[in-house]
Amino acid sequence: MTHETNHGFTCCPKCGSSSFLARDKGRSFKCEECQFHYYINSSAAVACLIINASGELLLTRRAFEPNKGMLDLPGGFVEPMESAEEAVIREIKEELNLRVTKMSYLVSYPNLYPYSNFVVPTIDLAYLCEVEGLDSLRPDDDVASIEFIRPEKIDPKALCANSMRQIIQFYLK
Ligand SMILES: [Zn+2]
Repeated sequence: MTHETNHGFTCCPKCGSSSFLARDKGRSFKCEECQFHYYINSSAAVACLIINASGELLLTRRAFEPNKGMLDLPGGFVEPMESAEEAVIREIKEELNLRVTKMSYLVSYPNLYPYSNFVVPTIDLAYLCEVEGLDSLRPDDDVASIEFIRPEKIDPKALCANSMRQIIQFYLK
């Protein structure tokens, strides 16, 4: 998979011209008619590491495509005008019905997220999170089920994205 796609653009979103051409290997697009210049940036996303009392990592199994059925870390896209920390709190509530009480930033890795037949470049920001308790844990939203696995026992091939493998490897170091 390459990031040099047309990002779904077949014409200029401002004037409709078909001369909306990729520059710098797809880093940006510029319209030859109205000069509108659009830059492709990474979408920010958060990935959360929650460890239980037995030292096992909470993993989610994806309910939907892309990568339906594969293991993932809880999290998701940061919404416009939201901080990454707010996204952590919101996603953990939405996906797991858990309340984050403490978090610390760990590391970030880039990823390519296929969606609606094009590829969204993301920057996945990893947070180590503590939660109020696990009693209220209830998978919801885009999560089919939950699994607790010791981080060193996780099969990298079962994870949905390279960035998730890299985050878990970083955590284990
Ligand atoms: Zn144009």
